Amino acid sequence: MYDYEVMVEHPTIALSRTFTYTSSKPVQPGCRVFVPFGPQKLTGLVIKPAQNPDTPRKKIKEILKVLDDQPVLDQEQMDLAARMAYQTVSPMMAMIHVMLPNALDARTTKPEFAYEFWVRKAEQTAKSMQTDQIVPIEGQPALMAEASADGQTSQPAAGSRKKLTPLLEETLQAMPEEMTLKAAKEQFSDYRINSLVKQGFLIKEKRILNHGTLPRRPLQPWPELNVYQKNALEAIHQAQQQVVLLHGVTGSGKTEVFFHLAKEALDKGKQVLILVPEISLTPMMEERIASRFDVDVYACHSRLSDSEMVSVWKNLEQAGPCIVIGTRKSVFLPLRNLGLIIMDEEHDTSYKQDKAPRYHARDAAMLRAKAHECKLILASATPSLDSYARAMKGVYGLAEIPVRASGHDARIRLVDLKRAQTYCNYSSDLIQGVTKRLALEQKSMILLNRRGYLPTVRCQACHEFLRCPECNVPLSYHKGEHALVCHVCGKRYPMVDTCPYCGSGPLSHTGQGTERLEEESAALFPTARIVRMDHDTTRTKGAHGRLLAEFAQNGDILMGTQMIAKGLDYHDITLCGILSIDSILSRPDYLASERAYQLAEQAAGRSGRGDKPGEVIIQTFNPDHFVLQCILRHAYKAFFRREMSFRHAGNYPPYVYLATVIIRHEDPERAYAKALEVKAGLEKENLEVLGPAEITLRARQSRYRLIIKSKEDGHLIDALWKCALWFEKNASKCRMDINVHPMNLEE
Ligand code: ADP
Ligand code: ZN
Ligand code: ZN
Repeated sequence: MYDYEVMVEHPTIALSRTFTYTSSKPVQPGCRVFVPFGPQKLTGLVIKPAQNPDTPRKKIKEILKVLDDQPVLDQEQMDLAARMAYQTVSPMMAMIHVMLPNALDARTTKPEFAYEFWVRKAEQTAKSMQTDQIVPIEGQPALMAEASADGQTSQPAAGSRKKLTPLLEETLQAMPEEMTLKAAKEQFSDYRINSLVKQGFLIKEKRILNHGTLPRRPLQPWPELNVYQKNALEAIHQAQQQVVLLHGVTGSGKTEVFFHLAKEALDKGKQVLILVPEISLTPMMEERIASRFDVDVYACHSRLSDSEMVSVWKNLEQAGPCIVIGTRKSVFLPLRNLGLIIMDEEHDTSYKQDKAPRYHARDAAMLRAKAHECKLILASATPSLDSYARAMKGVYGLAEIPVRASGHDARIRLVDLKRAQTYCNYSSDLIQGVTKRLALEQKSMILLNRRGYLPTVRCQACHEFLRCPECNVPLSYHKGEHALVCHVCGKRYPMVDTCPYCGSGPLSHTGQGTERLEEESAALFPTARIVRMDHDTTRTKGAHGRLLAEFAQNGDILMGTQMIAKGLDYHDITLCGILSIDSILSRPDYLASERAYQLAEQAAGRSGRGDKPGEVIIQTFNPDHFVLQCILRHAYKAFFRREMSFRHAGNYPPYVYLATVIIRHEDPERAYAKALEVKAGLEKENLEVLGPAEITLRARQSRYRLIIKSKEDGHLIDALWKCALWFEKNASKCRMDINVHPMNLEE
C-alpha cells in the first residue's frame, strides 16, 4: 500500500490541512483524487507521500478514485498555492481553484479540449511538386487521402491520382506547409481545398486547439534604444535585487526595454511572462509582441472559454521558449522554465482579486521569480507608493526613464469648473480642443470616471432613488437594454414605469451615463465618429479588439471609462480630456490621491505619443489640489514625498501593513456585536484596530468593517489566521471577509 497526504476540498479554514489516505497503486503528487471524508465524498489533491503517518493503520481510509493520469500541478505550483493561501488567510484548495482552469476544476474529470482542423501538405506531394518527375503509378497506394466523414484525421487511401488542374496546382504552390482548414478555405475557397484533400495533396487533421498561440505576424525592425532606455536596461542588468521597479513616464519606451529583456531570456531558452492589468490591453500588447518575436506567443485572459483555457494550460506544460501575455490569473500558469516576469502597470488595482481568496498577482509573481531565480520587473509611470517606497529603501532595484521617447511631454491644462462655461459636461476649452482636432483629422480621447457618471433614476413625487434591494445603492439605468443595473452586485432588474415606493411617478433620469454622454457628444460634434468603450460595450468576446481597431481605423473620439486610460498607444491621439477628476479625489479612502494621480497621469500618457505634441485638459472644481498641481508638472517624486508625509501622519501604508475584516449578517445588531468581539480578539494580539464602521449593504446583509494595522506583516497574518479559526467556531451565523493588504477600503 502507498500512503499519501491529501488536501481535501472543504471551505473550512480549520480543515485546510492534509489528511492521510492510502492507495493500492502509486499516485503522483499533484493529481486530484476522490476520498471519503466522514460521511461525505470529497475531491482532494495529493500533496506528497506520507511518512510514517501517526494515524493508526486501520483508521487510514482508501483513496476512492484517482482523477488524473498526470499531475495537474507541479511542486512549485503547489508550494505557491500553499504560500498564497497563507498570505490571504484562505483554505489552500480555494487558492488551487483560482490557479486551475475551470475545466480542470475538481469535479471535472474529463477536460473538454477545444479542437480545430488543420490541413498540411502531404510530404511526397511536396517533393513531386518540386521535381515534377514522380508520376504516380496506377494502383499503388500512395499519397491519396480522403476526408473522412466524421472529420477525423484522413488517412491516405489507395487509388489513383489525377493530374492536378492548373488552378489546384497553383493553389497548392501558394499554400504554406500547413495552415488551419478555416484559414485555407477563407484564402482559397472551399472547393479548392476540398479537392486537394480528396486527391491526397493535403492531409486533414484534427488537432487540439493551440489556443492562445497568436498567429505569426510579419516581423518589424527593432528601434534602437535611446540613451535613457539603455541606462535603464543597464540598471536592470546591474541590479542585485530580484525585483526591479522600472519607473518611466508614460511613453518613455518601457515596453521597448522589457522587449530587450525578453529577448535575452528567450535566447537563453527561457520563457517570459508578461502580466497586464486588463484585457483591453492584451490585443495591443499582443500585436506588438507578435510583430517583434519569432516565438510562440500565448494570450491568456478571462474571455477565453473553458476549453480554450485548458488548451493553453496543456500546451504550456510542454512548451519551450515562449512568451505568455495575460491578466492576473496568468501568474499561475504552468510555466516550467521561467526566465523573466514583467508586470506592466504594476500599480493597477485589477491585479488584486476582489473576492476570496483576495490575492495580489504581485505577491504570486514574487514567489515565482524566487522559485525560478529570475527577475521580476515592475513597470509603471505611476508606481504604487508601496513599490516606490521599497525601491527607495533598496528592497527593489530601481531603473528610471525620465523622458518620453518622442521627446515631448503632453501639455496639461486644468479647467476650473467653478468659472468655466460648460455645455453637456464639456467646458468651452474642451469643446474648442476637440473641434480643432477634428479639423486637423487628429484623434481625441474623452475620459470619464464611472462612479461620477452613473445615470440614476429618481421618483419625482417622493424623491427616492430606485435602489438595489440587496445592496441599497442607487441602481443605474442602462438605456441599451432598458434595464436597471446594480454596480455593486451586478444584478439586473427590468426598468419600471411607476415608483416602487410610493406607487406614483413620474420617474426622472439623473446623472450621466457613458451612453448619454455619447449622445450629447454626438450632438456637440455632429461630424465626429465616436467610439465608446465601457463595461457595456465590451462585454462580448473580442469586443475590445474590435472597438480599438475601429477607433484606430476611422474613429475621431474615443470615449469611455478608465479602461481606456491605460496602455493604449495610438500616435495620432493628440488630446485627452478628463471630464471630472473630483469624484476620485474626494473618495473617503486613504488611497484617493494615489488613484487620482494615477488616472490623470495615465490618461495624459495617451496623448501625443507620436511626433505631434499632445494636450491634456482636466476639468475640476479643485484646481489647487496638490495632486493636480503635481500632475501639471508630471512631478511624480514631488507627489510621492507629499503623499508619503500624509501616510506617515495618518499611520497608513507603506508605513504599516493593513488588513480589513468585514462582519456581515442580516441583523445589523448581531453583525455589530460580532464585529466588537472580533475587534477585542485582535486587540489582544497587540494590533491597532479601527472600527467597526458600517459600510454598504451586500446581499441584504448589514456589514461592519474593521481596519487592522500592524508594523509587522507576519504578525498581522498570523493574528488573522487565529481570528479566522476562532470565528469558525464562534460565528453565530455571521459571515466574515478578510482582506489582507486591501487596495480599496470601501468595498
Ligand atoms: P511606455 O511603455 O513607457 O508607455 P512605449 O514602449 O509604449 O512606452 O513607447 C512609446 C512610443 O515610443 C511607442 O510608440 C514606441 O514605439 C516609441 N518608442 C519607444 N522607444 C523608442 C525608441 N528607442 N526609438 C523610437 N521610438 C521609440
Ligand atoms: Zn415615489
Ligand atoms: Zn446590488
